[in-house]
Formats: sequence, structure tokens, C-alpha cells
Amino acid sequence: MNTTTKLAKEISFDAQYGNYINGEFANCESGYIDAVNPATGEVMSQIARGNKDDIDRAVEAAGVAFETWSTTTIEERSAYLHKIANALEENKERLCMIDCLDTGRPIYELAVDYNIAINQFRYFASAILTYEGTSRAIPDGQLIVQKDPLGVCAQIIPWNVPMIMVSFKLAPALATGNTIVMKPAEDASLSTLELAKLLKDILPKGVVNFVTGYGVEAGDALINHPNIHKLSFTGSEGVGRLIGKTAGERLLPVTLELGGKSPHIIFPDVDIERAVENVTFGYCFYNGQSCVLGSRVFVHDAIYDEFMGKLVERAKTVKVGDPTDPSTRVSTLINEKQGKRVLGYIEMAKEEGAKLLVGGNRVTVPNNEHGYFIEPTIFEATNDMRISQEEIFGPVITVMRWNDVDTVIKEANDVGFGLAAGIMTNNLENAMKTANKLQAGSVWINQYFSFQTGAPFGGFKNSGLGREYGKEALDEYTQAKSIAVNFNPPPAGFFG
Ligand code: NAP
Ligand code: MG
Repeated sequence: MNTTTKLAKEISFDAQYGNYINGEFANCESGYIDAVNPATGEVMSQIARGNKDDIDRAVEAAGVAFETWSTTTIEERSAYLHKIANALEENKERLCMIDCLDTGRPIYELAVDYNIAINQFRYFASAILTYEGTSRAIPDGQLIVQKDPLGVCAQIIPWNVPMIMVSFKLAPALATGNTIVMKPAEDASLSTLELAKLLKDILPKGVVNFVTGYGVEAGDALINHPNIHKLSFTGSEGVGRLIGKTAGERLLPVTLELGGKSPHIIFPDVDIERAVENVTFGYCFYNGQSCVLGSRVFVHDAIYDEFMGKLVERAKTVKVGDPTDPSTRVSTLINEKQGKRVLGYIEMAKEEGAKLLVGGNRVTVPNNEHGYFIEPTIFEATNDMRISQEEIFGPVITVMRWNDVDTVIKEANDVGFGLAAGIMTNNLENAMKTANKLQAGSVWINQYFSFQTGAPFGGFKNSGLGREYGKEALDEYTQAKSIAVNFNPPPAGFFG
């Protein structure tokens, strides 16, 4: 038995997790939802099916906590964030395995999530120390512009990268003096609830609250609660539009991180072996369940045949297997619904006339028969097909041939989303001219998924509103207050 398989067997969960409200796990009157291992189908635990009453209690606790938390100093909040980062680091191995068991992601890649999360808390622990307002002298006085926290932030996250999402939302909101009610995704709440046990010993009660459950119950109650002051959402475009509409009606500030259909453009001067590896990484990592997946690959005509031959061969050697096996690179999708959705897109692509080059099947993995393991799948297609325009959320790409750089940039931008893009070339001029014209919030040249701490992350077009991960997130969780101080009242009679 290898060490990760041994660790997987050693992990134990609570039989039930209540909602984490006001520093305590509270019993959930409205019942519980099974937390299922998506590979094996095993029910590992149960999480609270939070409803409006739970949300009411959580928002109330966060509101009370805000009164004190918002008056803490930046040095104090910085120290709290460092403690959270340290706790994550100390528990990293175990939490990685919990996400592996709960979401079916390969154990190999989960350390990346936790490194990003740990760095995110450390980054905002430092960033808040330099987040000054401004001040200037005015005639007989002083103008002060300060950044006030917003209050209670409602945060809703998806299931694909739980701890990255938790850190993107918690770190900037806490740093700026806000308190939080978060609803994790019902398919991936266990690591967040285990984090809550650690936060219990770190943060004052009520500063962070987690209510688990369904989007249409707990999520809906949260976004419509009268005593919240900010909406922050990551997830699908459809639910994002609903959250944006609610924010508009209620005039609440909102941050939305939505889907993507990112182009990956391969120039003819690349080292083909390296480019094939990077493209494969770009569509197989996260089991393809990533909003920034490199899902539309544009390959230059001059290298097309050789590149595609190698890309197809590489797809066949990607190890599809048990998530807890460290040699696995693609494992199960999150649930049956997503599995059927991805297989449905594969069928639709064939009907649309896209040419299947490799993959396209569900694979049976021994002892994991419950899971939807989908082979790395490559279609030759055109950019206007639905398979090229809609987010699939699985290890599936469409490949297109290109000749002219202006045309490929136009095609790369010809999509509703604008979250990320990749470019591969050794020519700096090609790289920069292309990057400057791509409509995407993040552009990665020669290394896909190149997440760098502090790089603002967010979408152009339908991929969202606002930025996280970088300093800009501090502005998303504050509002400016201008205080004009006059040393003396105007002279008597000045009004005429
Ligand atoms: P989703 O269905 O939009 O759900 C996201 C979250 O919203 C979940 O916690 C969900 O709860 C909740 N929710 C659903 N309906 C709601 C409602 N009516 N009111 C309030 N909350 C509601 O997305 P998903 O299926 O979890 O995740 C996949 C999608 O997320 C993909 O489209 C992907 O592109 C996007 N994504 C984007 C980013 C990014 O940074 N831009 C990152 C990751 C994922 P339950 O599902 O638990 O019921
Ligand atoms: Mg699960």
C-alpha cells in the first residue's frame, strides 16, 4: 500500500457536520445531506442542509462580530491571516486528501490548491499593511480619504477548487475588516468544515460563518438576506447573472467570477514536445473542471499534422485512475450530473460534425465504479460549433487550424467568455502583440495555469465582474469615505 492510499484509509470524518455559526457547529433543524465520495459512491459523512433560519443566525452572528472585528488594527488582522495560513500549512496533507476523497480530484494536483490558498492568506496579510487611504492639505484644513469595510459579506463558491475559492474570498474580506457568511458547494464542503475547526481556535466568534446546503435554499436565503452588505460569487454564468440581478435590485456591491472557454494559441516556432505537454496539462488538470481550462486550442498550419499526431498520442498516455493514486492525472468528475453533462457534450459534438480524434468514453476504474472517469478527449472542430462556444467542464478540447495571426486572434476572441488565454511561441513580439489583443483577464505565455500570487484574477465579458487574488480585491471589499476637516468654522455672516 503506498503512503497516499494509507493516508486515505486513515482519514476519518465526523458522522455529521452542523453549520459553523458564531464559532460553534450548530445542529441543523432542517436536516442533512450525504457527503459522497464521487469515485466510490461511499457516503463518508453528512453535511447540514442549511435553510433560511440557519442563514438568519449566521448573518446575525456576523453582524455582531463586525462591530468589534471592524475596529481591530491592520496589524492584528494581518497576524490573524498569518495564523490561518500556518494552520493550513500544518494540516495541508490531510486537507488535500479530504478534497481528494470529497471531490475526486487526483491527489497529485491538490497540493497546488493548498499552496495557492496558503500564499493567498499570506499575501493579504501583507497587502493590508500597505493599504493606506490618502490625505492632503486643503485651505485651513485637511482632506482624509479612508477605506471603510462594507460589513457582512455573503460569499458563495463552487465545488471544483474548494480551498482556492475559500482563500480568494476570505483573505481580502477579512483583511479589510469585514465579517463573512459563506455557503460552500454542497458537493465539496468537507475541507471547508474541517478548516472551520481550525478557525475556531484562531478567529473571534462570528467573524467567519459557514452554512452548507443547496444553492436554491441556503444560497437563495443568503443573497436575499436584508442585513448583508456585499455579494461575492464564483460559479456558473447562469447563477452569476441571478446574483448580479439581485445585487442590482438591492444596490449591493458584487464580485462575480464565472465561466470560461479559453483559447490556447500555438505558434509554429514552438518546441513541439513541450507544447504538446503544456496543452495536455492545460486541458487535463483539475479533471478539466476548471473555469480557466485551455479548452479551445488553435494550432498553426505549418506544424499542425505533427503536433496533432503527438497530442493524440499523449492523450492516450495520460493516466486515468483512482484519485488517491499519486500517479493518476485524470480521475472522476464531481458527480453523475456532471458526468452525464460531459458525455452529452461529446455526443452533441459528433452530431454537430466535429471529428473525434481520441477519447470520448467513460472509463471504468476498479474499486471506483461509481465515478465518471472521462478519457482525455480531442475534437477537430470549428469555432462556431456549440462544443467550441459552451463551457463543458471536463477533459475535452476542440482543436482548430490557423494561418494568419489576425484571424486567429479574432477567432480566439469570438466567444462569450473572457477569463483566460494561453499563447505558446519563442517570439517575444508575437507573444506580446497577441497578448495585448486577447480579450481575457489572464494571459499565460508558454506556461498554462501560471497563477502568480497577487496577479489580479477575473474575467472580461461574460466571465464576470471585479478582480480577486491581487490587491484590487481590497477595493472590492471596501468603500471610500472622504472626510473634509476644516480647522475653523466660516466667519459669521459668510453666507451673506
Ligand atoms: P453553480 O451551479 O453556479 O454553483 C455555484 C454555487 O452557487 C454553489 O455553491 C451553488 O450551490 C450555488 N447556487 C446555485 N444556485 C443558486 C441560487 N439560485 N442562489 C444562490 N446560490 C446558488 O456552479 P457549479 O456547478 O458549482 O460550478 C461550476 C461552474 O463554476 C462552472 O461554470 C465554472 O466555470 C464556474 N467556476 C468559475 C470560477 C471562476 O473563478 N471564474 C471558478 C470555479 C468555477 P449548490 O451547487 O451547492 O446547490
Ligand atoms: Mg462529495
